[in-house]
Amino acid sequence: MNKDTICAIATAMSSSGIGIIRISGSEAIAIADKIYHSPNKDKKLQSCESHTIHYGYIYDGDQKIDEVMVLLMKAPHSYTAEDSVEIDCHGGVFVMQKILETVVKAGARLAEPGEFTKRAFLNGRIDLSQAESVMDIIDSQNQFALKSSMDQLSGKLSESIRLYRENILHEMAFIESALDDPEHFSLDDYPDELSKKMQDVIRGLQELLATADNGRILKEGIQTVILGKPNVGKSSLLNALLGYERAIVTDIAGTTRDVLQEQIHLNGLTLNLMDTAGIRKTDDIVEKIGVDKAMKEADDADLIIYVIDSSGEMDQEDHDLLSYLKDKKAIVILNKTDLEQKIQIKDVEEITNLPVIAISAKENTGIDLLEKQVHHLFIAGEITYNDQVYVTNVRHKSLIAEAISSLNLVLKSIEDQMPEDFYSVDLMNAYKQLGLIIGESVEDDLVEEIFSKFCMGK
Ligand code: GDP
Ligand code: ZN
Repeated sequence: MNKDTICAIATAMSSSGIGIIRISGSEAIAIADKIYHSPNKDKKLQSCESHTIHYGYIYDGDQKIDEVMVLLMKAPHSYTAEDSVEIDCHGGVFVMQKILETVVKAGARLAEPGEFTKRAFLNGRIDLSQAESVMDIIDSQNQFALKSSMDQLSGKLSESIRLYRENILHEMAFIESALDDPEHFSLDDYPDELSKKMQDVIRGLQELLATADNGRILKEGIQTVILGKPNVGKSSLLNALLGYERAIVTDIAGTTRDVLQEQIHLNGLTLNLMDTAGIRKTDDIVEKIGVDKAMKEADDADLIIYVIDSSGEMDQEDHDLLSYLKDKKAIVILNKTDLEQKIQIKDVEEITNLPVIAISAKENTGIDLLEKQVHHLFIAGEITYNDQVYVTNVRHKSLIAEAISSLNLVLKSIEDQMPEDFYSVDLMNAYKQLGLIIGESVEDDLVEEIFSKFCMGK
C-alpha cells in the first residue's frame, strides 16, 4: 500500500459546470476533514459510512472557497482500492486550482499523470491490460472503440491470455517434474503431445492477433483515400462529407502517419479521410502531385473512394484505375448527377464488381447512400462486431506475436529432437511475453512508461 496520499483535478482544465478533485491514499479522509465543513458543524467524514455523499463547504483556514458535494469511498471499495474522496465543486479553473492547493496544504501531494489508475493496478484491483483500457475508453471516438475498450476493462482479453499462460505453465511444470523424477514421469511420448498442445495455443493466439487489424480500424478509424482524376469533384466530396449533417468532424493530425487527415464519425464508424497533399483549395499542379501521392496512400488504405465525373466520359485512365481497385475495398462514386449524365451506374457496373453510388457533391445528394455503403462494407461485411475479444493495443499485439515465435521455436526443437530442457526455455519466454500483457512479472520501468501516457487525474 502506498504511504502518501495523492490528489489531482480529475475533470478538464477548462471552465465547465462542475469540477472534480480526487484524493486517494491512507490520509485521504483525514485530509478532507481538515478542509471540509458540514453545515452540521460536528460532522466528520472520518466517522461517516463509505459510499455516502456530503454537502458542505471547502475552507482554506477561515476563508470559504466553494460550496461542494463530497463523495466518500473507503478502501478497498474505490477506484484505487484506497481510501478516496472526491470533491465535486464548481467547474471554474481558478476555483478548482484553489481547492487543489488547499488539499495539498492539508497534506496531500499532487498526483503524477495516471497515478490513480497505477495505484488501482499496484493494489491489484485491475491488471495492466485493464488499466490500459481506461485510457482507451477516454480516447474512444466511436461506439465500437468504446465497446472493445470496455470489454478489455472488464477483463475479457486478460481472461484468454491467462488461459494460454496456464496451459504453457502446466507443460513447463511437467517437464520440470519429469526431469527431476524420471521414475514417475515418463517423457517417452511427451514431445508429440506437447507439440499438439502448443499448436493449439499458437492457433488461438493467431486468432487473437488476427483481430488486431479490425481492432485498429474500430479504434483508430478507417484509413480512407479519395481518388480520381482532376476536377471530378474529390474536394467537393470531401467537403460534402465533412459538412454532412450526421458527421461529427474532429480536426486532428494523423496519429499513425505523417499525413494530415480529417476525421469524421459516421454512424458509429470513424473515417480518417486522407487530405492528400491538400487536394482541397489548390491549383492544378499541386492537384497532380496530390494524385500521385494519393496513389501511394491508396496502397495501404482500408478504403478507397474512387470518384468519376458522370457528366464526362470514361477514358483509359478510369479503366486502369478500376482494374487496379478490383481487389481492394473500394467504392466507386459517380459524381455530378445534377448535370446531364453521360455515364450511368450500369455502365460502371459492367466493368467492375465494386459498389457504385451516384451522388451530387454540389447538391449534397447521395451522401447517405455512401454512408450506408461504408457501413455495409465494414460492419455488415468483414468486421462483424460481436463478442469476440479484440486486440486494439499495439503493445499487446507485438507481445502476442513474440509469444507465437517462441512457441514456434518449441515446435522446432521438438521436430529437431532436441532434449527436453530446450523446450523449457522457449516455453518460459512465451509465458513471460504473455505475462507482460496483463502486467505479471513486469519491470517497474515498463509500468512507468505505460502510466506516463495517461492524462492528469486518471
Ligand atoms: P477535384 O479536382 O476532383 O478535387 O474536383 P473539385 O471538387 O475541385 O471540383 C471540380 C469542379 O467541379 C468544381 O468547379 C466544382 O464546383 C465542380 N463540382 C464538384 N462536384 C460537383 C457536382 O456534384 N455537380 C456539379 N455540377 N459540379 C460539381
Ligand atoms: Zn480537388
